Amino acid sequence: MSMSRRQFVGRAAAGVITTAALSASAADPLPPSSGGAGPLIVSTWPFGKASNDAALKILRAGGSLLDAVERGIWVTESDVTNQSVGLAGTPNAAGVVQLDACIMYGPGHKAGSVAALEGIRHPISAARRVMEKTKHVMLVGEGARMFALEQGLESLPGNSREAYDNWMKKHPAPAANVPPPGPDNHDTIALLILGADGTIAGGCSTSGMGNKLPGRVGDSPILGSGLYVDNEVGAAGATGVGENVMRYCASFMIVEFMRQGMHPQEACRQVIQRIAKMDPKPVDQLSINFVALDKKGRFGAAGTDHGFKYSVTTEAKSEVLSNPGLG
Ligand code: ASP
Repeated sequence: MSMSRRQFVGRAAAGVITTAALSASAADPLPPSSGGAGPLIVSTWPFGKASNDAALKILRAGGSLLDAVERGIWVTESDVTNQSVGLAGTPNAAGVVQLDACIMYGPGHKAGSVAALEGIRHPISAARRVMEKTKHVMLVGEGARMFALEQGLESLPGNSREAYDNWMKKHPAPAANVPPPGPDNHDTIALLILGADGTIAGGCSTSGMGNKLPGRVGDSPILGSGLYVDNEVGAAGATGVGENVMRYCASFMIVEFMRQGMHPQEACRQVIQRIAKMDPKPVDQLSINFVALDKKGRFGAAGTDHGFKYSVTTEAKSEVLSNPGLG
C-alpha cells in the first residue's frame, strides 16, 4: 500500500522543520549547473532516476523532447512496485484508482492534462494526446477515459487491484531497472527536461493521495500547480499534499521567481517560505516538495518532507540528490 495520510504527515513531522530552518538553509551550497552540454533531466524522488535514464535514452536515439518526457514517465507508470503513480497506485475511498497527469511543452506554450482518469495505463500519454489532438487543455473523468480509449491507449478492464495484477502479468513493464519498494518509493513523478537546444518540456503523473474522496483532483494535473514550463525561463514540478500546492500556484510561482533571476533551488525555497507564511498549518506538516531547472542549465529542489530526494541526469551522470537543509 502507498503511504497513508497518517504516515505521510508523521514522516513530515519527523523532519521537524521550522521556518527559521528554511531561512537558514539559503546558505546551503547550490547544486552545480549542468554546464549546458547536452540535455538536463530533473525529476522528483529516487524512483525518478529510472524515468530520467529512459528519457535520456530516447533523446540519444534522436527522439523528441516530448517523447522523452512521455516515455520517461511511462517507466514509473508501469512500475508495479510504485503505489502512488500509475494503475498500481493506491485507490481512492471507493476502492478505485483515479489517475492525474499533465504535460507542457515550452515552444508555443502548449499543455495537456487529464484528471480522475480510470483504467488507462499511461495517463501521461492521454495528457499528451489532449495537448496534440484536441483544442482543449484538460479532460476529466469518464470523458478523459473515453478520449484515451478512442486514441487507442492501453486500458485495463475494471479497476480492481486484482484485475490490474492479472493484467500486469501479461504486460510486463518496459524497464526492469527500478529500485525496490522502500521509504522513498512513493508520490508523484514530475519530470522536467531542458533540451540541448534550450527547449524545455515537462510532465507529471500520479495516482494522488491514497484514500482521497472519489473525484478529488490534486495539484499534479493543474497547470501552474503541479507543473509549469515557460520556455523563456525554466520549469518547476511538485510532489506532496496537493491541497497545499494548488492553492498557491506553486510551480508557476517558482518559475516567476526564476524569471527574476533566482537560482532554481532558491526559488523552490522561497516558495515554501511564502506558503509557510500564509498557511495556517505548521510548516513541517505542509508536505510540499519541489524541483526546478532553468534555461541556463541550473537546477535545484527544496521540500518540507524529511528525506525528500530528487533525481538529476545529464550526459555525464545520473544520480539521486538530497535537497540540503530541508530533508
Ligand atoms: N501531489 C499529489 C496529490 O496531491 C500526491 C503526491 O505527490 O504525493 O495528488
